[in-house]
Amino acid sequence: MENQPLSAEDTLDFINSLPEIAATETFCFDCNPSVPCFNQCCAELTLPLTPYDVFRLCRHLAMPSTDFMTTYTQANTDPETGFLTVTLKMNKEPGEPCPFVSPAGCLVYENRPSACRSYPLGRGTKLGEKGIIERFFVIHEEHCHGFDEGTHRTPSDWFSNQGLLPYNAANDRYMRLITLVKASGKPLDTRLSGMARLALYHIDQFRPMIQKMRIFTHLAMEEDRKALICQDSLEGDAACLDFAFDWMELLIFGQAPTLSRK
Ligand code: SF4
Ligand code: SF4
Repeated sequence: MENQPLSAEDTLDFINSLPEIAATETFCFDCNPSVPCFNQCCAELTLPLTPYDVFRLCRHLAMPSTDFMTTYTQANTDPETGFLTVTLKMNKEPGEPCPFVSPAGCLVYENRPSACRSYPLGRGTKLGEKGIIERFFVIHEEHCHGFDEGTHRTPSDWFSNQGLLPYNAANDRYMRLITLVKASGKPLDTRLSGMARLALYHIDQFRPMIQKMRIFTHLAMEEDRKALICQDSLEGDAACLDFAFDWMELLIFGQAPTLSRK
């Protein structure tokens, strides 16, 4: 299988072909090492990585972001927006396994990407007038025995069970940014596209740049927020990415949800 990123149209067609489940409905599913198909789904994937996924994996692997992006990802610039689309490269060996799968399971389990956590649910989002609008879809593949027996959960129970809430919150910020740029009708110019690449996918380089360029001196911000953004930790990375979304909106549109100029 050729692991090319799906186009936006292909992704939409795929999502629309899946059975939808309401937010209050339950589905029955569990996955653990005793299922006969254990690990079978961790191969031949077009696995999208969001900015939040990337810093979590970099932290887990203790890898600089540039090394991570070069070693593990395939990245292309979307001509419609100027933002990167990033997917995890499967190993180039028979069966094309995920680079992080092992006989005992996922080697990056605590920091596995959003798509792995969400499966077998798909979450479609769009920006509405009052915030994010969500739809949920069940991906029921023949090889997957997780539906044979399991626990009944609503989509939000499942996302909570899988530790997805901070992932979804950050991914929604990214979706908002992409949607706003699409709505503007023109892609980011080269300078903004490069800044987005750095700020969103290279937190370890963006953080020193914030300090070197004294970016905070131009912004109205709480001291606690500044301190957390500068902290070299998982929480600091999450705060830095949240700042990056605001910073990019401020640069592109002159305003942002939780950031303003002095
Ligand atoms: S990251 Fe982990 S859960 Fe996701 S495909 Fe790879 S091995 Fe499987
Ligand atoms: S139950 Fe489904 S998700 Fe779990 S290992 Fe099997 S194929 Fe993968």
